[in-house]
Amino acid sequence: MHAVGNFIDGSFLPAQSGKTLNDFDPATEKIVATIPRSQTEDVESAVAAAHSAQEGWANLTLEQRANWLDKIADALEEKTEQIAQTESMDTGKPISLARRVDAARSVSNFRFFAEFGRQQTQQTFQMEDALNVVHRSPVGTVGLITPWNLPLYLLTWKVAPALLMGNTIIAKPSEITPLTAHLLAETVLELELPKGVFNLIHGLGPEAGQAILEHPDIKAISFTGGTETGRIVARTAAPMFKKLSLELGGKNATVIFADADLQSAVEGAVRAAFTNSGQVCLCGSRIFVEEKIFKQFKDLFVENVNAIKIGNPMDETTEMGTVISPEHLLKVESYIRLAEQEGGVILAGGTREMTGYNGPDGVGAFLRPTVVDNLSYTSRCATEEIFGPMVTLHSFTSEQEALQMVNSSEYGLAGSVWTSNLERGERFSSQIDSGIVWVNTWLHRDLRTPFGGVKNSGVGREGGQWSLDFFSELTNICIKGSNGN
Ligand code: NDP
Repeated sequence: MHAVGNFIDGSFLPAQSGKTLNDFDPATEKIVATIPRSQTEDVESAVAAAHSAQEGWANLTLEQRANWLDKIADALEEKTEQIAQTESMDTGKPISLARRVDAARSVSNFRFFAEFGRQQTQQTFQMEDALNVVHRSPVGTVGLITPWNLPLYLLTWKVAPALLMGNTIIAKPSEITPLTAHLLAETVLELELPKGVFNLIHGLGPEAGQAILEHPDIKAISFTGGTETGRIVARTAAPMFKKLSLELGGKNATVIFADADLQSAVEGAVRAAFTNSGQVCLCGSRIFVEEKIFKQFKDLFVENVNAIKIGNPMDETTEMGTVISPEHLLKVESYIRLAEQEGGVILAGGTREMTGYNGPDGVGAFLRPTVVDNLSYTSRCATEEIFGPMVTLHSFTSEQEALQMVNSSEYGLAGSVWTSNLERGERFSSQIDSGIVWVNTWLHRDLRTPFGGVKNSGVGREGGQWSLDFFSELTNICIKGSNGN
């Protein structure tokens, strides 16, 4: 059992109120940690520490801060197995996935931004009689608020560029998955990162998270989470003119044309649908298949879904673990009941039965991957974000119809298109209202590229230059009489 503290000014501390929250393993439903239930006064202390550290951190060169990022990457890499085990326990995801995705990407986020930072050159714009020089400075103290699905992966995706650009940090992970953020705090403590540069506050969103949003000295908020929470973030922070990055929910489409390589399209669609129990914001939960191959696709898809091995997250061979919590299980199950009421036909899953381990005494937030046919693409199950192992299948007869169906969503985060005609793949993708589209692949990431959504999926982009721009302020200095030499 872990006792987790807030990390403020280089020390682990309880909430000033002394209140705590329990953290559960969703596979065993046992308490694995207690965390501080922080309030405004804890955020105040963290902001004071961050402010004291701000100048010293900002005065380091970009190269020195990039070196810090590399040090953190090295230290996290040594803890790969610990990160994977901790993440698997806290989220119920398979250990193999936690190693391959969560632990690996948490390291590469730091390494990538270190290297990317070193490649930066100062921008200048020469005029006939003057030289414009663009200076970058840190924003100051920034608030980073992250969800439970990819806890350390998404936190480090923000921490690395924020540190690189000279900011100090107040981070708040989801209270459901606090453990790897704690591990990151332990790591920066061991490395003796200057005190106050990285601060971590645990607690509930509406309490600790809200206090971060409301604090006038936190100058930017980078938020990843649900669309409804995003609205609260925007409503609170925008009137204070804080910089805002909002990475929100999705209801992504997987589009399969008749000329696609069927085997790889099926495998890709299964992966896009059920990776991390369908709890990746990029998951494809609406699957549109060209009528000509609909039956053939459906049979093969269901066969592949039924072959997914669900069970003990710590078992090396497990392919799908639990959903995040018993409460979330009930939410996903309510959508399965709704699908039936809406006239849907359950082709696979729909129950808690396991193919392997079922948790001690049948406990654990396990749900079989669920495939629903026969629903309209405008039904609630096909339009609302479920964020679990449940997908709907739909057929289309023309490219135009497919596009209209895909774009009918209020969300616009990601999608994948499967076709052997690459020219069509690119043309069709460019017409999807979405921030990210993959052709003949899914979740194939180059960290230099823009990442983010349109419509209700968010505002702004992360990744490469976009992250550096968010975490810095630009000052253009126009020097009359300078010829740039
Ligand atoms: P939530 O929106 O519930 O929570 C996200 C974070 O915000 C958590 O740390 C939460 O804290 C915190 N929070 C909640 N209320 C407030 C508040 N009033 N003020 C400040 N912070 C608050 O999302 P989930 O954790 O449920 O994550 C799932 C959602 O995240 C899905 O909609 C998914 O699509 C989206 N997501 C988007 C991604 C993207 O890149 N676009 C990537 C991954 C997920 P706490 O949990 O402690 O209450």
